[in-house]
Amino acid sequence: MASALVSTALRDQHVVILGGAYAGLSTALNLLRICDGTFSYFLKADGRGHNLPLPRSPRNKPRITILDPRDGFYHAVGTPMAHTSKSYISKPWLQWDQIPELKRGGVSVVRGKAIKADPEAKTLVYLSGEPGELQQRSLDYDYLVVATGLRRPWPTVPMATTKAEFSAQAARYIEHLQSRNSIAVIGGGAVGIEMAAEIKHQYPLKDVTLIHSRSSLLSSEPVSMEFRDTVHKVVQSGGVNVLLNNRVLNVTSDGNSSKTITLESGGSLSADEVIWATSSAAPITEFLPNEALDQEGFVNVLPTTQFQPTIPNSAAHFAVGDVISTPGIRLAPGAIRMGKITATNIAQMLVACEDSASDTPSVSSDQAQAHAKPPKSNLKLVIGVSGAAYDGNTGDMMWGPEVKQRIFGDDMGLTREFFFFLFLSTRLHSRAILTIAKVHWERWGYFRT
Ligand SMILES: Cc1cc2nc3c(=O)[nH]c(=O)nc-3n(C[C@H](O)[C@H](O)[C@H](O)COP(=O)(O)OP(=O)(O)OC[C@H]3O[C@@H](n4cnc5c(N)ncnc54)[C@H](O)[C@@H]3O)c2cc1C
Repeated sequence: MASALVSTALRDQHVVILGGAYAGLSTALNLLRICDGTFSYFLKADGRGHNLPLPRSPRNKPRITILDPRDGFYHAVGTPMAHTSKSYISKPWLQWDQIPELKRGGVSVVRGKAIKADPEAKTLVYLSGEPGELQQRSLDYDYLVVATGLRRPWPTVPMATTKAEFSAQAARYIEHLQSRNSIAVIGGGAVGIEMAAEIKHQYPLKDVTLIHSRSSLLSSEPVSMEFRDTVHKVVQSGGVNVLLNNRVLNVTSDGNSSKTITLESGGSLSADEVIWATSSAAPITEFLPNEALDQEGFVNVLPTTQFQPTIPNSAAHFAVGDVISTPGIRLAPGAIRMGKITATNIAQMLVACEDSASDTPSVSSDQAQAHAKPPKSNLKLVIGVSGAAYDGNTGDMMWGPEVKQRIFGDDMGLTREFFFFLFLSTRLHSRAILTIAKVHWERWGYFRT
């Protein structure tokens, strides 16, 4: 009996990550760094304010499989620019083979879409192959990380699953936008604001209207009224018309280029292009058992990012990023940080299994596990030529063109905010990161995320 336990514990453990964007890729890269001994806690890993010791590297490196329908990492934050500016199209999509850290034994990226996870059996069914020739396949796992994000409407995210397709679709969409005179964006949350403002910024002669059902922009976000009003002014000063208190009932097409938007108030307006950016985007979690989800389909997780204990093998199941149930704002830096927490916890469990010669991943001690910080209500927006940032702890805010430059640079945060933290946060680079961050914080009063 003992020898059977030892042999299962010593076999390579299989970590399957569903979704290879900010949250999923962060989990994979940080787990690899822990295994390589190059991991660094740039941010405190323990949400309760303590630094945990660096996790030990497991003796047996786990096999890691990332499953994603896309052929690369997509920087969703850059979509407003990717769908308005041709010079940006080549930047936000990084194919898997362009990520050197993934090119190694024991790591596979499978193009496919999860369709059913069975936590009790620890098996996953997925669809892979080209459209029209999809095949159902399955794989076994020891640990599952769900990082599948939200189902958002085109054109707020790409429909494409390959970089080539994405580039072609984005270019076509930009030409389409260029041929329209009036554009209406429905939904005054962060995504709608950024889309409307970027279109007006790129095409100042077009008539751009942002329609929102509530009495203020960002009405669903936990930010102050003062920040909402400020953002409203920044949006308007960029030339976007803002229509508040106007719920859209439907949008009909007259057969020509023009569309009619019918409002609940009884009025209507026409626009040549209508973009839906409402906050009702649903999580992609239909492959999970209902018991793991809240009423809206988001995954209920513990602060350790593990599933609730009512789910079979809950300790070996994690969810990170936009898919988790949270009252906080769903943002990319939070998704990256949750990936780091998850990698730490998986590594600790792998080591604990090796130490106890058991193949049952269990929470050895809650105290020893990294906890995700309670979601903050910090918010940073690109609003055309300007930026706006809100610190949820202090209520401080700043806005203006220099705020956009400081936080996002001129590439929608691609290098400064995201690639930097995703790809460069190894121990090797942590000293450089700390120096740069210190300068940022001291010089600019930059908010901690
Ligand atoms: C237009 C726009 C602007 C934004 N602006 C900002 C901003 O300025 N700042 C900010 O912090 N955040 C911003 N966000 C939000 C940010 O993009 C999200 O918080 C972030 O993408 C969440 O990361 P994630 O990894 O959880 O999910 P996602 O980035 O959505 O990634 C999910 C991944 O899962 C894959 N997937 C989907 N279904 C399956 C399946 N069934 N099986 C396997 N894989 C699957 C997808 O292909 C994708 O790669 C913006 C979002 C949008 C749309």
